[in-house]
Amino acid sequence: MQCPLCLKKDTKVLDSRLIADGFAVRRRRECQDCSFRFSTYEEMEILNISVVKRDGRSENYSREKMARGIEKALEKRSYTSDDFKKLLNRIERDIQKLRRDEITSNKLGEIVIKQLKKFDKVAYIRFASVYYSFEDVKSFTREIKNLKIKK
Ligand SMILES: [Zn+2]
Repeated sequence: MQCPLCLKKDTKVLDSRLIADGFAVRRRRECQDCSFRFSTYEEMEILNISVVKRDGRSENYSREKMARGIEKALEKRSYTSDDFKKLLNRIERDIQKLRRDEITSNKLGEIVIKQLKKFDKVAYIRFASVYYSFEDVKSFTREIKNLKIKK
């Protein structure tokens, strides 16, 4: 990493700190030439995976697209942007664990639902109701009942 001030490439890492549940790292650096100090932020590489839709077409996975879908489910719910970022990271970690080049939109939806369930119960219900499209009303009703019992 070169110094943003003098553009020399010789910079030293003074301190590294894991943030966002350990999915990112912030590094404090110092230029060995002009002593200018600055920070860098390192994040997990963007997921390079294809999503195969129900009709068989596939498209590149998009974090923004997934985030928009989840934000819709989280409408008027209270959460911090930091928590939201962590949620996205957990979902992407689950996708990465599959070690695949492609994932079906069904599987992706299941992963989102699983993580959303732990994040916000109301958003989980909203997302799941859209996702399952009431194909199986019985199991969905059972799911809601289960949630009530746990409270
Ligand atoms: Zn410098």
